Amino acid sequence: DGQIIITRHMIDKLVVRSFPPCMKQMHKHLRVNHHLKYGARRQYGLFLKGIGLSLDEAMAMMRDEFTKKIPSDKFDKEYGYNIRYMYGKEGRRVPQTAMSCAGIILRNPPSAVDCHGCPFRHCETGLLKQKLASELKKDQVEKITQFAENNQYDKACTRYFEFTHHLEEGGLGQLITHPNQFFEESQKIIAE
Ligand code: SF4
Repeated sequence: DGQIIITRHMIDKLVVRSFPPCMKQMHKHLRVNHHLKYGARRQYGLFLKGIGLSLDEAMAMMRDEFTKKIPSDKFDKEYGYNIRYMYGKEGRRVPQTAMSCAGIILRNPPSAVDCHGCPFRHCETGLLKQKLASELKKDQVEKITQFAENNQYDKACTRYFEFTHHLEEGGLGQLITHPNQFFEESQKIIAE
């Protein structure tokens, strides 16, 4: 059906153009620290599955990173099961689906050592501004931060999408409520 096969080698490029801030944050953490804690492995892993990364590619991508710090057999023993579980290959054998923004925002909030969650909800304002400033202009950062401070996380993320895709405010014509929706809408715009 013309859908592109996504491999792990494409992820670094896709992150820059098409990943929402929550996934960007976890991807960066993975590349820098060669590890993700449970909450991030689940939130990020299910998102990657949702964009079409196969089980083999997901396993290889995580193994490549994790084994920079731990032996391969330890990776297989401690992390392999959970990755296969998300793809419905272990336990109840029910493939898991990616979490919506509401699920990410309301359930399982990150602790200080975690990198999962929603930056608009879970990052302190100063840090959020700092993160956004690397990609956006000052007035854009202010607008997004204002929404986040008013607990309007969907609007904050939608503006972030619009600014990073050079659309006018409201130009997306819908609110972002799911990280995979963010990815899919971004890919549509890039394909145009
Ligand atoms: Fe991720 Fe949703 Fe938060 Fe955007 S609003 S950063 S997609 S959890």
